[in-house]
Amino acid sequence: MIRIEKSDRLKNLPPYLFKEIDRQKEEVRKKGVDIIDLGVGDPDMPTPPHIIEALNKAALNPANHKYPSYTGMDEFNETVARWYKRRFNVDLDPGSEVVTLIGSKEGIAHIPLAFINNNDFALASSPGYPVYDIGVKFAGGQIYFMDLLKKNDFLPDLDAVPEEIAGKAKMMFINYPNNPTSAVADGDFFKKVVSFAELHNIIVCHDAAYTEMAFDGYRPISFLETDGAKDVGIEFHSLSKTYNMTGWRIGFAVGRAEVIQALGQIKSNIDSGAFQAVQIAGIAALEGDQACVENMNREYTERRDVLIDGLIGLGLSVEKPQATFYVWIEVPEGYSSAEFTSHLLLKGGIVVTPGNGFGAAGEGYVRMALTVGKERMKEVIERIRAIGF
Ligand SMILES: *Cc1c(COP(=O)(O)O)cnc(C)c1O
Repeated sequence: MIRIEKSDRLKNLPPYLFKEIDRQKEEVRKKGVDIIDLGVGDPDMPTPPHIIEALNKAALNPANHKYPSYTGMDEFNETVARWYKRRFNVDLDPGSEVVTLIGSKEGIAHIPLAFINNNDFALASSPGYPVYDIGVKFAGGQIYFMDLLKKNDFLPDLDAVPEEIAGKAKMMFINYPNNPTSAVADGDFFKKVVSFAELHNIIVCHDAAYTEMAFDGYRPISFLETDGAKDVGIEFHSLSKTYNMTGWRIGFAVGRAEVIQALGQIKSNIDSGAFQAVQIAGIAALEGDQACVENMNREYTERRDVLIDGLIGLGLSVEKPQATFYVWIEVPEGYSSAEFTSHLLLKGGIVVTPGNGFGAAGEGYVRMALTVGKERMKEVIERIRAIGF
């Protein structure tokens, strides 16, 4: 047997904060408890049938069984450009300003390899989607965390980034509508981001995974709608949450051509693009009837209202999200994020995510996902009422 020694990059990964929760989940499951899982950001509803049919048909065509283009089929990239025009009134050149991804996580994880040298800095938010931080560290870089605080509406305070860090940062990751806080950003914030990026020569990577998951008539904007945004950065998009396609692995990035091309160059050396039949299904999703999205958003709105009204009725502090399928809840007096998570799980059989799992500034919160139906949501409230806190 040889001795197996992991790389420093794996050894230096931040501690996996969900380990203890995973253990407790297993313990509760073994007891036969009927667990309600609001922990994972994965839609519970199936992919709409017209998208599945498009895949079925495309999978039968041998032309789709070959290696696809690294940067995506022309038809997919053109569809993305048309969708951006329709949805955001943003003009994109499909040949140079769009790249197809094997899920947006893939592109987010790989892009630091295109720009980060050893010990270079990137900015990301805390709490935040963990891939920004880990992607940068895998590329040898360092992260400066911008805290998302309630008093700033969970937007990063760019003026609080030390001059010295801003001066040497090469990239910045932002994400609105936001996971995990469900906060949204308006054009004024994006304008500040563009000025900040221009001043410090920073590439902006905006993760826009949730622009289509919004409620009460609210329509999230694209970062690229902002004047100058396409000069300073790119936007990541995903079909995963919008069309219940998390397992399919299809997403895209759009924006500044040199940045898109550099990402494509990294990808051409690592993967061989997304299965064409999946890209064709993606075209069906983006070009097809959007009633499926409206129906899902209506369902999420109803679940959200049951959950929020119930939580407020119990005396918890929470705001009604306008977008995303997450609810960001302040833990009650006397609990840490981990303690409140354990309380809900061990006493109530309810799985939530402790806020500190998304970064230190998430301490004091838990995240619930709207991934169970209304009746189960009512049951969540009843269980919390019964166990108290
Ligand atoms: C779910 C999620 C993604 C990943 O989406 P995929 O396209 O499935 O890789 C990216 N960013 C955020 C913030 C997410 O919540």
